[in-house]
Amino acid sequence: MKTIGLIGGMSWESTVVYYQHLNRLARSRLGGLHSASLLLRSFDFAGIEALQAKGDWESATRAMIEAARSLERGGAECLLICTNTMHLMADAVQNAVDIPLIHIADVTADAIKASACKTPLLLATRYTMEQGFYRGRLRDHHGIASLVPEEAGRQTVHDIIYQELCQGIFRPESKQRMLDVVRTGLAQGADSVILGCTEVGLLLSQQDMTGSLDAVVLDTTLLHAEAALDFALKP
Ligand code: GLU
Repeated sequence: MKTIGLIGGMSWESTVVYYQHLNRLARSRLGGLHSASLLLRSFDFAGIEALQAKGDWESATRAMIEAARSLERGGAECLLICTNTMHLMADAVQNAVDIPLIHIADVTADAIKASACKTPLLLATRYTMEQGFYRGRLRDHHGIASLVPEEAGRQTVHDIIYQELCQGIFRPESKQRMLDVVRTGLAQGADSVILGCTEVGLLLSQQDMTGSLDAVVLDTTLLHAEAALDFALKP
């Protein structure tokens, strides 16, 4: 089994999900006492969030590259950036190492294609919804045209991510507000929902999509972990 390098801590609430899911998948595929072979570089998210809020993407990129290189030196054979937002600098990180970076948007695109859905609604941080790196990759590499919520909906989702989910706060009323954003997106033509922030799956899941909210849910955290384990177990 290959060793997977995780760039995590952004936030650790979702890194825990990666850690559990990778280990559970390894056990279910290999049986017995098997677990995943992992290396983790976990950031103090306060410092990273401050760089994001300032728009200092250069310093943030340097931090991601440094993490990637240290995981490679430590023996990682592939890399996961355990956040959608920090795929903003995925190309720079990939260019700085010799091991493959498994890109979260590519993995998500493969799942969209397999589901036969055509128009996903992207729920993510403002950075992911508004800067071109994510929706552009879905479009240019995979021919997938995604939708994002309107301004008020984007603000709602962004605020719930940073003020609640990344701090381990899970409120039923926030879940309802997020579902209202989904309802509006479906009325505007979406047929599926990308949980395009690695913490959103802590609040929403396929089970919430009942009645008028009939849509396929793509949880990027779970899909990303699954793709990494597939890679790690490939001969
Ligand atoms: N984990 C989140 C994501 O997937 C947001 C936190 C961050 O900015 O990295 O985008």
